[in-house]
Amino acid sequence: MKRIIGKIDPSDKNVTIYGAGFSGLILGYYLKSEGYKITIHERSNKVGGMVQTKKVAGGYVEKGPNALFLNADCLELLRELKLEPLPAAKKLKRLIMVNGKPKRPFQMGLISKLGLNVHKKPPLITDGLTVAEFFRPLLGDEKVHRFVSPVLSGVYATSSEHLHFRSIFDQVGKKAQFVSYFDFIKHMIRHQKAQPKLEVSGSVSFEGGMQTLINRLAEVLKHDLKLNSKEPFKLKHNAVICTDAMTASSLLETVKPELSKELSRIRYTELSSVTVFLKREIRSLTRAFGVLIPLETGFKSFGILNNKAIFPANNENLISYTLIGRKKLTDKDILGDLRQLFPEMEEEDVDHTENSYWEKALPIYDLQRYLAVKKLHQIAQKEQSVAIFGNYVAGISLREMITAAKSFAKDPVTYPETT
Ligand SMILES: Cc1cc2nc3c(=O)[nH]c(=O)nc-3n(C[C@H](O)[C@H](O)[C@H](O)COP(=O)(O)OP(=O)(O)OC[C@H]3O[C@@H](n4cnc5c(N)ncnc54)[C@H](O)[C@@H]3O)c2cc1C
Repeated sequence: MKRIIGKIDPSDKNVTIYGAGFSGLILGYYLKSEGYKITIHERSNKVGGMVQTKKVAGGYVEKGPNALFLNADCLELLRELKLEPLPAAKKLKRLIMVNGKPKRPFQMGLISKLGLNVHKKPPLITDGLTVAEFFRPLLGDEKVHRFVSPVLSGVYATSSEHLHFRSIFDQVGKKAQFVSYFDFIKHMIRHQKAQPKLEVSGSVSFEGGMQTLINRLAEVLKHDLKLNSKEPFKLKHNAVICTDAMTASSLLETVKPELSKELSRIRYTELSSVTVFLKREIRSLTRAFGVLIPLETGFKSFGILNNKAIFPANNENLISYTLIGRKKLTDKDILGDLRQLFPEMEEEDVDHTENSYWEKALPIYDLQRYLAVKKLHQIAQKEQSVAIFGNYVAGISLREMITAAKSFAKDPVTYPETT
């Protein structure tokens, strides 16, 4: 269910939020728009959490997200904030590493597999079904490993063997069985077509990078933010916890042990995001958004973004690539990956690197998270004035958090009957 966990009492207009990462800021913004008086306590000395842009000579380094993928709610938010989106360059190639070479996905024999198996009946969609299990009869083991896993890893940093089908493809709704993969594809297309047409679509950033979005939200909320907050946590009436799940679990340990126990089940991956400034372009990535890399290819990173191609206006003078790795990437790992992509590259071609490491980067969208969140909803819908939010609740991306925060602020009480 794509809803913030818990409720707040709309008859009391005072709301205390813990955490000023994107979830806390965006929820604070929408609650304030609905007339609530909010106070956001942030433990660190800055807002935005993982959304951070560093300015370096000639370009920007995104330490966390590099783009916002738009939906109608995002576009309306940007209008309200008077922010001009900077759309990603169009028609860039999206590549996948195959046998050591970046290739377009449809050169991978996918079309023939689809043609052959599209009439087959997919597995029953049960609570336990993984993405890999769903697609295996259609694409076979090898294509799931080489195509589906890298594509989803680009967003969830987790292989399709672990990703929980219903969490990732929530467009299927309550449907448990499709008569064929063709039927499933038609359903997904119908869902896509039902979305409002946007005048700007796809991924966007901003002049100055993603930090611009954070700065604008912080400006709107400037009288409501308490940075470096040392206030000991007290469960006030109308409290919303917008930290990672482990922190939320420890904050609630004594006051709401049942919620705390479920929160502690949610697991996270670590991630590195390394931006490398080079003196020459990687030829195989020319006019490409980037390349996704399946596991067990010898690469240490699972995705490489071509920053200058995606947002040329934000990266005028230098050529930069961002490598995303599942572990802490060392200089040796980075050089090794770049050399595999571009054997002519010399150490001197590297101008400099900016290395960001997140120990608890992303929640794993597996069955364990799904069951924990389901249980959290069941427990918390009996609560009147406590809510929990973050990227482990209603989607990992900023876009999903915008939609969830907006609808919660409008109606923080009603739970759909499905729970
Ligand atoms: C490398 C990387 C790339 C990504 N790329 C994209 C992308 O391109 N597009 C996209 O949409 N998403 C992307 N994401 C995902 C997105 O950035 C995150 O899901 C999102 O920023 C998480 O926001 P959050 O508020 O849930 O958590 P956080 O950003 O972790 O914020 C939590 C906040 O709570 C604070 N806090 C912790 N404990 C306390 C306490 N006790 N009291 C008060 N405050 C506390 C923390 O200091 C922090 O500020 C990416 C993530 C990473 C790591």
